[in-house]
Amino acid sequence: MSIRTGNQYIQSIKSKNPEVWLGGERVNNVVDHPYFAQSVKEIAKLYDMQHDAEYQDKITHISEDGTRVNNSFLNPTEPEHLQMRRNVFEIWAESTFGLMGRTPDFLNTVITGMAANDWFFRKYGEQYGDNIINYYKYVRDNDLFLTHAIVNPQNDRSQSSHGQQEEFTHLGVVKETPEGLVVRGAKMLATLAPITEEVIIYSYPGFSPGDEKYAISFALPIDTPGLRLYCREQAQSGERSTWDHPLASRFEESDALIVFNDVIVPWDRVFINQNVEAGNMLYPSTGINQQPSHQSAVRGLAKISFVSDVACSIADAIGVDGFLNVQNQLSEVIQSAETIRALVRIAEKEYEVTKTGELRPNLVPLETIRGILPHAYPRAIQILQTIGAGGLLMSPTEADFNNPAISEEMNRYYVGRTDVSSERRVRLFKLAWDLCGEAFGQRLVQYERYYSGDPVRKMGMFYKAHKRKNPSYPRVDRALKEGLEMAKGSKSKA
Ligand SMILES: Cc1cc2nc3c(=O)[nH]c(=O)nc-3n(C[C@H](O)[C@H](O)[C@H](O)COP(=O)(O)OP(=O)(O)OC[C@H]3O[C@@H](n4cnc5c(N)ncnc54)[C@H](O)[C@@H]3O)c2cc1C
Repeated sequence: MSIRTGNQYIQSIKSKNPEVWLGGERVNNVVDHPYFAQSVKEIAKLYDMQHDAEYQDKITHISEDGTRVNNSFLNPTEPEHLQMRRNVFEIWAESTFGLMGRTPDFLNTVITGMAANDWFFRKYGEQYGDNIINYYKYVRDNDLFLTHAIVNPQNDRSQSSHGQQEEFTHLGVVKETPEGLVVRGAKMLATLAPITEEVIIYSYPGFSPGDEKYAISFALPIDTPGLRLYCREQAQSGERSTWDHPLASRFEESDALIVFNDVIVPWDRVFINQNVEAGNMLYPSTGINQQPSHQSAVRGLAKISFVSDVACSIADAIGVDGFLNVQNQLSEVIQSAETIRALVRIAEKEYEVTKTGELRPNLVPLETIRGILPHAYPRAIQILQTIGAGGLLMSPTEADFNNPAISEEMNRYYVGRTDVSSERRVRLFKLAWDLCGEAFGQRLVQYERYYSGDPVRKMGMFYKAHKRKNPSYPRVDRALKEGLEMAKGSKSKA
């Protein structure tokens, strides 16, 4: 197999029947379910782009095995490989305006990063290194769509996994059998899980002695018996019109808690087996922070650039962009986007090379983006709310425009500045409302805060890494020394 079409992806998830629960009901066919159907279509479009002459050479390449595969499966060993990867991140992100975060390229980069560092898994057992390489090839060559669950559910954060009230609230190993590991417990927060084909489990660092049974990494088909997906309440029904909700009706990503009820993980799908050191060192050793962060940064850039465009369009449509305060706010959003863009470019240009020859985009600018976006994105949304003001709350619906009894007044009273028709103005404000008012938009804000860990602890880690690299401050020493010398000089003159 090689790159898939959208239809091949749809047929594949149709052939699966994961145990999906939504609103107290079992969903048997995600492809035709109104809530999931639209996101299936959006993902299918991405797969189709791989076959579109306009994009194919930009987002795919021929692998060392001679098959055409997506660029997100490319282990970067040359500077141009980073550019090839950015091409797919950018083109796919633009397709959803950056509003879908967990498109297939995200986890492709994770497993590519893991496989590029098979030495790490081999440290704890040769078979684990083989497993990750084989799994990477399996996913790449079948062009599969993965979800991931890497966080323990929020039960009692003051206790480690082994300190929770029940032994298997957090996902852990019950026993080893000749077939594989038997695992039980929950993990979160698997975005888009119901419409994926595989789930991969690993964790952020944070295991302590006693947590051995929870320090695991493995992958399974999403419809493995005993595996349940509990979806959060939907932010939209999937049946609202795209006229009224041009974004919310298209781009909602479901999120799920995954529960494992004594599920067997075959040995060839185990990557880390009950090893606290391996669990904690996976992130710092394999670069699975940096490579996916490249995707996230490019995607985040598409998203904040889109919000910037929407804010500018709104301001222009109602003629407020001549006011100084509005110009200041718009410039703030534009500059946030420009800052992210510049940081992405620096991360790519000042890449790091590992001892195995893997090129990783520079961690410092990537982590700087992680520090900035959780503030810059909510601020951009606040600016959108401020500029749209009351107009965001008075939009009528498509049905109002279509009703002859009132359509004339619809067309008269909702007009914007000269040349901006009522319909355009209302549709523009509805687009903005999806981003800054709807539950859909609030999730998008929460996503930028938390999609890759807790920003508070990430900033703490960033500072500690900075201090390790900069244990002293020669500039400060020089300033003090020069000051002292000048002070002595002026005294002796006196
Ligand atoms: C929209 C969305 C989509 C997501 N998609 C995915 C996905 O696809 N796959 C996936 O695995 N995860 C996903 N995540 C989950 C994400 O990884 C977590 O939300 C993130 O790691 C933060 O963890 P938490 O939500 O459990 O918060 P917690 O860690 O419980 O933090 C809660 C609060 O307590 C504070 N806090 C907690 N512990 C400490 C501590 N030790 N020291 C200091 N402060 C602390 C935090 O600063 C925070 O304010 C997603 C999250 C969101 C919001």
